[in-house]
Amino acid sequence: ADIQQTLAASIRAIHDYPKPGIIFRDITTLLGDAAAFRSAVDELVRPYADLAVDQIAGIEARGFILGGAMAHQLSAGFVPIRKKGKLPHTTVRVAYSLEYGVDEMEMHVDAVKPGDKVILCDDLIATGGTAEGAVKLLRQLGAEVVSACFVIDLPELGGRKKLEALGVEVRTLVS
Ligand code: 5GP
Repeated sequence: ADIQQTLAASIRAIHDYPKPGIIFRDITTLLGDAAAFRSAVDELVRPYADLAVDQIAGIEARGFILGGAMAHQLSAGFVPIRKKGKLPHTTVRVAYSLEYGVDEMEMHVDAVKPGDKVILCDDLIATGGTAEGAVKLLRQLGAEVVSACFVIDLPELGGRKKLEALGVEVRTLVS
């Protein structure tokens, strides 16, 4: 609970960003605080310490920062899941739902192998549409999504339930 409070205090709330009425949770303040960044990564990896994980899959862009640190600490590989058009090699692509409309994200076809154990990572889960798309991509390539982790959960938006309905364990640090 103490760590949760410290982490929560290091996250900045930006009102009316990116649109009027929205409160954006800004984690740049957490990342810039050495103690907060270390404890966030420590808490994210803690449940997985005894698992043999092949890769951490991070969702662009903040999932790269957290997922890269997790991969290092767990001696796992890191795999980027990116907005369409950014990856240079052959990709698999999935459409995912946003609050208004849809977008597409991609992975390299050879980024994971069938049977690989992968942990999905992003900074925040809201509706879960982004993470759901990422799970679909990973499963399309035959990976086993052993867990999905996020620093921030916005539980009233239902993302955790959406992922759990897909059979994915969800771990979050701050609600
Ligand atoms: P979802 O698809 O679950 O509705 O939205 C989650 C995605 O949008 C994540 O990739 C997350 O980085 C981004 N996102 C949505 N709202 C926020 C927010 O308030 N703060 C941050 N840092 N990211 C957000």
